[in-house]
Amino acid sequence: MSSLDASSLVINKTTTPKAKLPNDQLVFGKTFTDHILEIEWTAENGWATPTINPYHKLELDPSAVVFHYAFELFEGLKAYKDASGNSRLFRVNKNMKRMNASAERIDLPAFDEAELSKLIAKFVEVEQDFIPEGHGYSLYLRPTMIGTTASLGVNTPDKALIFVIASPVGPYYKTGFKPVSLEATENAVRAWPGGSGNSKLGANYAPCIKPQREAATRGHQQNLWLFGEEGFVTEVGTMNAFFVFETEDGKKEIATAPLDGTILEGVTRDSILDLCREKLDPNEWIVSERKFTIHEVKEASAKGKLIEAFGAGTAAIVSPIKNITFRGEDINVPVALGSSGELTKQLLDWIEQIQYGEAEYKNWSTPTKDY
Ligand SMILES: *Cc1c(COP(=O)(O)O)cnc(C)c1O
Repeated sequence: MSSLDASSLVINKTTTPKAKLPNDQLVFGKTFTDHILEIEWTAENGWATPTINPYHKLELDPSAVVFHYAFELFEGLKAYKDASGNSRLFRVNKNMKRMNASAERIDLPAFDEAELSKLIAKFVEVEQDFIPEGHGYSLYLRPTMIGTTASLGVNTPDKALIFVIASPVGPYYKTGFKPVSLEATENAVRAWPGGSGNSKLGANYAPCIKPQREAATRGHQQNLWLFGEEGFVTEVGTMNAFFVFETEDGKKEIATAPLDGTILEGVTRDSILDLCREKLDPNEWIVSERKFTIHEVKEASAKGKLIEAFGAGTAAIVSPIKNITFRGEDINVPVALGSSGELTKQLLDWIEQIQYGEAEYKNWSTPTKDY
């Protein structure tokens, strides 16, 4: 049984490189780089030799378990180009850990996290000319694992594939923040205790599209996922949710839902909590992972005690919220800076400075050549 071994990587470069798109034509997830990283696994032999080959279609049997029983999980992270021209990865170890946790949840094989990090760093180096330069620009990476066993039997897959593809992306907000309006969803549930909402599985996504589209027909950019009769606030679309409240004793509290199994453990969420705990003045701020309800948000807004709110995830980093419609009534969310709250903007700046290698912080951003 072979374990995943980055040192055995075989690279076959394309002889027909694609033209690089100018920065203003980059669309998220529509165009891809020249290559694909792949590693096959079988229960019999373990992880095969990793390869980087020209980007190509996959050939799978129509009976492959991925098509029938949703044996699929994925990650999303980005590579950045710093001012010295180095390509960098941000907290890739967190993504690898979560990827293994997702694999475990659906009985797909475990892999050595440090080895896959090294392979992703190598892949980014092969594609480094595709990393667009400048704040907000990056190369979005999509590590994926699927079960490939050709069988309609409902069993643990005995064959699997990890592949990684990459898409050059521009800033989420081309002309400053665009605060979003949310609709609180009550007719569908994203995740539940004992379910799989804390794993990054494709199976969690498909059932979430219809409520999102319906919210869009009523003029909202995203939906707010609630849980239970109490109306606990869980996530915003596919982002973690943060709310800033003024407390009874005049402090400010930044609150997000706790990791109780119904929340995806976002790398951005973790980074925000860490930065807030390290950098905000504890005499003025409380940083909370706690349950809170839509009713609490509504009451805080009515009393002028809601300061700001935002979603958090790799794609946008932070996404300011200006309104939440709940049972047909609007809950107004202040945006003190015009298009975002003050902390929202501060967090974007802190995180971008780390990602682009302008500020050193806990080794969160590492040049790919150091892997
Ligand atoms: C990926 C994801 C997030 C954000 O995670 P990041 O690691 O910060 O990108 C939040 N919620 C859901 C449901 C997700 O799938």
